[in-house]
Amino acid sequence: MAKPRNEIAVKRLFTNVYICMKCNAKVRSGKKDGVKCRKCHSTGMRLKNKDIKG
Ligand SMILES: [Zn+2]
Repeated sequence: MAKPRNEIAVKRLFTNVYICMKCNAKVRSGKKDGVKCRKCHSTGMRLKNKDIKG
């Protein structure tokens, strides 16, 4: 059985969270464009969101 409550909690935790593809640092940002890694200043960021499914 699916647990919708847990899904919402996970969504809230992972939404707006980006992962640097260079150094895997987590960066929280509400912006969709121009997200920069605070460690290596790379702009190659991907959504943490995409890790959940699959
Ligand atoms: Zn980085």
